[in-house]
Amino acid sequence: MKHFKHMQASSADQAASEAANGTAWVMAGGTDLLGTLKDEIFPEYPETVIDLKTIPDMDGISEDGDELRIGALAKLSDVAESDTVKTHCAALAQAAARVASPTIRHMGTLGGNVCQMHRCWYFRVPDDRFHCKRKGGKTCPARIGDNRYHSIFGDDGGCFASSSHDTAPALVALGATVVTTKREIPAEEFFGAHGHRSNVLEDGEVVKEFRVPKAAKSAFQKFALRKSIDFPVVNCAVAQGPDGATRVVLGGVYPAPWRSKEAEAELSGGVNEQSAAKAGEAAVSVAKPLGKNAYKIDIARTLVKRTLTDIA
Ligand SMILES: Cc1cc2nc3c(=O)[nH]c(=O)nc-3n(C[C@H](O)[C@H](O)[C@H](O)COP(=O)(O)OP(=O)(O)OC[C@H]3O[C@@H](n4cnc5c(N)ncnc54)[C@H](O)[C@@H]3O)c2cc1C
Repeated sequence: MKHFKHMQASSADQAASEAANGTAWVMAGGTDLLGTLKDEIFPEYPETVIDLKTIPDMDGISEDGDELRIGALAKLSDVAESDTVKTHCAALAQAAARVASPTIRHMGTLGGNVCQMHRCWYFRVPDDRFHCKRKGGKTCPARIGDNRYHSIFGDDGGCFASSSHDTAPALVALGATVVTTKREIPAEEFFGAHGHRSNVLEDGEVVKEFRVPKAAKSAFQKFALRKSIDFPVVNCAVAQGPDGATRVVLGGVYPAPWRSKEAEAELSGGVNEQSAAKAGEAAVSVAKPLGKNAYKIDIARTLVKRTLTDIA
């Protein structure tokens, strides 16, 4: 691991200004970032790591009219256990409860969860041995390589990684807004394959909080190879707003959470066992699996049906 300077931020704006030239990266719980630094997966390395945890009052969970305000530094364990989140945004509490293990949920934050880097094994290989598209290389090795855990809905800017954050589909399904030091971004537009990031943040932009509309009903389900601690192979969140419209969002199937308009179209008459099954079929009707991951289609179809059945 290369040496870096360590700085403790006193405010989000201070952290943003120190990170503006790209040579400093921010850290919350460190459960994702420190692994990438230890393995030296990048051709370039940050000179400074800015600890956000010293910023006061950025970890709250509160009600504000029709929405919840959740600070970016809120720990995943607090999000999972909060009665407020469980009552009004059940999908988010359920998703946070399924992240990793209790120790990681006690360290990891909601901001860090949505900003975590992709878990693609080519992107993450130590010492930048696969200089992939995201790092300035010519191709994505997963396109014809071992792509069993990769996208089944095509590429984003040439990258076929799959999103690995459990809370992201829930935030998109709930219609959340990501509030940064520069702007407000709908969660639906926040994620993607963007250089070393899995989101559209720019250098010197720090996530401060999430505004999450209260949902009449919402639910989350996850399929992973191990139940105790594992990233999602596929996950799914659904949420029904006050107008009765239902959003269906899959994770683990594309570099960003994948909102399925095809599935949602099947739910215009309401959510019941029959429409849930049709939505599952519709969700995968436009899938374009790679050589080794067609098995994910069956999992996605079933998860959409099961998650919708939870709110039927
Ligand atoms: C063994 C293991 C298992 C895991 N399993 C899962 C799993 O099942 N599901 C899952 O979703 N994740 C999983 N993770 C990934 C991850 O560690 C957690 O998701 C955690 O939530 C990351 O939060 P953190 O606060 O530790 O982030 P950090 O490691 O501090 O940061 C992660 C990234 O986000 C950026 N960042 C952090 N906060 C902000 C902010 N406020 N503004 C802008 N950028 C920010 C950092 O610069 C960094 O790039 C796992 C990790 C490990 C090590």
